[in-house]
Amino acid sequence: MSNLLRKAKNAYEIMSPEELRDAYEYCEGYKKFLDEGKIERFCVEYAVNLAEERGFEVFDYGKKYKPGDKVYFVQHNRAAIFAVIGTESPEDGFNIVAAHVDCPKLDLKPNPLYEDSGFALFKTHYYGGIRKYQWVATPLALCGVVCKKSGETLRVTIGLDESDPVFFISDLLPHLAKDQSSKPLDSAFTGENLNVLLASIPAKETETDALKTTVMKLLNEKYGIVEDDFLTADLSVVPAGRARDLGLDRSMILAYGHDDRIDAYPALLSLFELTSPAKTCVAVLADREEVGSMGISGMRSSYFADFLKALCCGYNERKAFANSAALSADVSAAYDPNFADVFEKQNSAFFNRGIAVCKYTGSRGKGGSSEAPAEFMAKIFRIFEGAGVLYQVAELGKVDQGGGGTVAQFISDLNIPVLDVGVALLSMHAPYEAASKTDIYYTHKACRAFFEKY
Ligand code: MN
Ligand code: MN
Repeated sequence: MSNLLRKAKNAYEIMSPEELRDAYEYCEGYKKFLDEGKIERFCVEYAVNLAEERGFEVFDYGKKYKPGDKVYFVQHNRAAIFAVIGTESPEDGFNIVAAHVDCPKLDLKPNPLYEDSGFALFKTHYYGGIRKYQWVATPLALCGVVCKKSGETLRVTIGLDESDPVFFISDLLPHLAKDQSSKPLDSAFTGENLNVLLASIPAKETETDALKTTVMKLLNEKYGIVEDDFLTADLSVVPAGRARDLGLDRSMILAYGHDDRIDAYPALLSLFELTSPAKTCVAVLADREEVGSMGISGMRSSYFADFLKALCCGYNERKAFANSAALSADVSAAYDPNFADVFEKQNSAFFNRGIAVCKYTGSRGKGGSSEAPAEFMAKIFRIFEGAGVLYQVAELGKVDQGGGGTVAQFISDLNIPVLDVGVALLSMHAPYEAASKTDIYYTHKACRAFFEKY
């Protein structure tokens, strides 16, 4: 028997030259999505534009849709759901792929601007699981919105265009780092020290707050805002660099925000390819996953279930949910030879071995997570294999080394079976994360096969 033992395959052994060309071309579109979508709002904006170009319309609660109709719903400009209506009854269930578009970053505090020792700076409050030492001494951009009390919303981006200035958080020079160097990594850098350098020219017209005045004058010129407007803003500081090919062979992508735009993009693009699916297919681009999915735009909010219920159009909702199936599309950790001691090699994901499948996530004895039933996984793998999707098993590191969760558990709370899948990354949550191009391509193929065949 040739298949008696499980054998891992490498994408470069099985992909044809044409398929590889397609995969690399697909990744150019993905790189653009990353560059345009540096924060969740911009991802949603970009995704909605792509959807509208393809005939998607704003979802109308209460309207009866027919097979092939394409709709989208935006939740507070920070999350979005896209759907293609199927030919079967809603009671036969929905096929759902849920990814998230929020990413670890540094948010501005509500009252961020101050000056000290000849500098103007922004105070930040980090969002999500960052390693603070990675965010110093690297070029940063400012992205987000300022909502004026008049009702006007101003879109802010500084530092993304090549001609823009960038921002920066200073690091300690090694010559003076004796005390800092002896501290544990998690206390050597503090959240309160992640202050962003903005300006150094004092304004001439004032004796006090001369540096703050310089900053507000420049921001006022560009956006018409005053200091008070920071209170009604969602502004974040993110790495300024664009997505780049990684490696001599260009087989990988180095970029900010792979987690989890690398799964959001395939979820969306594969949905776009559907014309008349049997089941109604739904792609979710959620927010707030990095902080536990709570909050109005997170997967714990009822908007997701409410959207599905509205799609039921009077049919039995419980039956529809019970017959639905979901992929929680989120990144996992790729085996890293630099940190081999935290991985268990046999159950780790590797670059170029396809979409990574996590039966369960969680930590300390699978705590705080969902787990996919074997029957459900068997059906999904049958679909993957039928569509030529390369997949591999993944566990997030060694038992009791740490762990993590995804949106999967909030989907299973709705009585919808769910499996964690996604692209494996190196340096997850760092300002620049690495991913393999072929894995992204197989994630697209996996999402499409799931939508069409489950
Ligand atoms: Mn994630
Ligand atoms: Mn994450």
